[in-house]
Order: sequence, then C-alpha cells, then structure tokens
Amino acid sequence: SDVPAVGSVDPSVKVVVRVRPANDQEKESQVVQNVSTDSLSVGDRMFTFDSVLGPDSTQEDVFRLVGVPLVKNSLAGFNTSIVSYGQTASGKTYTMWGPPSAMVDGHSTNSSLGIAPRIFHMLFSEIETNQENSEGKQINYQCRCSFLEVYNDQINDLLDPTQRNLQIRDDAKNGFHVENLTDEYVTTVEDVTQIIVKGLSNRKLGTTAINSKSSRSHIIFTCIIESWCKGSPSNCFSSLRTSRISLVDLAGLDWDELEGLGKQCIDEGRHVKRSLSRLGKLVNVLAEVTNSGMDQKIPYMDSCLTHLLRETLGGNAKVTFICTIFPDDRCKAGTLSTLRFGGRAK
Ligand code: ADP
Ligand code: MG
Repeated sequence: SDVPAVGSVDPSVKVVVRVRPANDQEKESQVVQNVSTDSLSVGDRMFTFDSVLGPDSTQEDVFRLVGVPLVKNSLAGFNTSIVSYGQTASGKTYTMWGPPSAMVDGHSTNSSLGIAPRIFHMLFSEIETNQENSEGKQINYQCRCSFLEVYNDQINDLLDPTQRNLQIRDDAKNGFHVENLTDEYVTTVEDVTQIIVKGLSNRKLGTTAINSKSSRSHIIFTCIIESWCKGSPSNCFSSLRTSRISLVDLAGLDWDELEGLGKQCIDEGRHVKRSLSRLGKLVNVLAEVTNSGMDQKIPYMDSCLTHLLRETLGGNAKVTFICTIFPDDRCKAGTLSTLRFGGRAK
C-alpha cells in the first residue's frame, strides 16, 4: 500500500475504566476500592478490564493509553473510535473533550485538555511528518469533520442548529452518510478544536440534581481522513484510502432515575434509557460474534444510535470504551451497571 502502515496488534475492542477523583461532598463514602492497573472492586465484587485508570490519572495518561494507539491505527487505515459510557457526573465529557476553555486558550499545553484535542494535535503532527511513503512518493491527506447529536432518537446537526431531524442514507453514490449534515474541511488542530467548541455549545443540556450540565443527548464527532499518493489520476484513485475517527460521548445512563423533572424530561429519559440498552445489546452480540465466530444478525437497526454506529462498531473497526465511574456510594447501582456494560463489551 502507498500509505505507511503502522503495524497494529491492538484488539478490536478495548475497555478502559476511569475512576474520577471524589469531590468535597463525596470524600466520606468511597465505594470503589483496590484500584490496580487492570482491576478494581466495588463492595465484594471484583472487576477486570484491559486497563483501569485510577482517581489520580491525568488527561495525558488517558491520551497515552487510548489516544496514541488510536492515531496510529487511523493512519494505518482502520476506522477507530472512542465511546464514553457512564452515569451523569462521572466524567464522560471531561475525559472526551475537557473544558471548552482549555481548548480555546493555550491548547496543547493545558493539562485539563481532553483526549479529543490531544488526538488531533498528534494526528496533524504525524501527517506533517508522514508526507512520503516508502517509495518516496508524496502522500496527500484531506480531513473533514462533522458533529451530530442524537436527541429523542432524532439526529440534529451540532454545527448548524437549523438542520434537525436528519436522515441516515446508504446509497451507491455517497455510501453510508447522514443526509445534509455539515461537513467541514480541516487542516489544523485549531480548525478541529473550533468545531468541537462550537458543537458542544449547541448540545442539549438539562439541569438535574446531580450535574447542572447533565446531557440528555448522545453526541458523535466524526473525522474522515482520506489519503492518496500524487501521481496520474488513475493512480490517485486506486490508492485512495479512507478511515474515520468517531468520538462518541453518550448521555448519562441514569436518566430514568431522576425524579421531579416534568414530562419533557421523562420522555428524554425514556429515549436515553432505551437507546443505551439497545447499545448494550449490540455490544453483546458483537462480542459473541468475535469470541465464538458465530454468525448472527448484528442489531444495528434497532435504534438511531446503533444505526449511526454501524461503521464504527464491528468489522475491522477498533473501538475503545471508556467507562467512567465515581466513588460516591449513593451511586453504587449506576457504577455497577457501568462496570457490567464494560464487562459485556469484551
Ligand atoms: P458527565 O459528562 O459524565 O456527566 P462531566 O464530565 O461533566 O460528567 O464531569 C462532572 C464534573 O466532574 C465536572 O465538573 C468535571 O470537571 C469533573 N470531573 C470529571 N472527571 C474528572 C477528573 N478525572 N478529574 C477532575 N475533575 C473531573
Ligand atoms: Mg456529559
């Protein structure tokens, strides 16, 4: 192939658990214990994963563990993704993006930057240094990004809030895509962080007792990387390679547990709960197919979220689930449910 291959020995599904530090109200009640590099216990139950990042882990640690292999795999031509899963206030959004203010000023040096801006910082610097293949032919890269939200089983464009209720299409001409979704070409990490900041500011947020910025929607940021070698047009076409990076920040899984929120929130909770349970089922079937080689129908079409993840989960794609938990024992049920989800994904 014309694009430099970075040998990949990564498994197709990795599950990483991150425990966020307790805040001031939580200090008294530590339900998560015996945290090691790949296991932890909750009450008398012990869980093992590919990796566990304890409460002292930094954003840089998460990047080194999950982001660096992702960038290498993407440049080797794999579809890659990160999915953050956990209850409200467990650190999904912090881990994925970090505070938007960190991206706006002093990106690349701010220690609270999430994994997303770090990934694109590395991606563009790799692209910069991988301008030639082994035969000395010049490689060209083109990257474009989109950012969408799945809210009440409906797709909205986070880069153009007037574009609502978009439809998934799969046709010979354009392949699998969301019709009318904004696609922006990017050439620098600044371009990408601007898109992320803009998209995040358009996300549906609600106020709950636990987190004043609780998410009622799933959001998916996608970057499509195309690369080809300079040459005659026919040459160009034959060596075109496409891979996608998908960053999925899910809604909190505890939306059904929140009381006194009114009808709109109850509907939202129902949609969140249903789509997460369909995702759990999808992840289960994928793990069974991988582990047993059994031929089963993959239930991508069960919900808008799973349908959108068709190119992201399964096949040759490489996905890392980051399951986020926190040590407050009032949230033990959600912690156990998050860890069970992580366990089912493998
Ligand atoms: P979620 O997206 O899962 O609802 P957030 O990412 O919004 O949760 O995190 C909830 C709060 O906890 C935020 O104030 C965030 O800054 C803080 N937080 C989350 N993870 C960490 C961490 N690893 N270190 C420090 N603060 C964190
Ligand atoms: Mg969030």
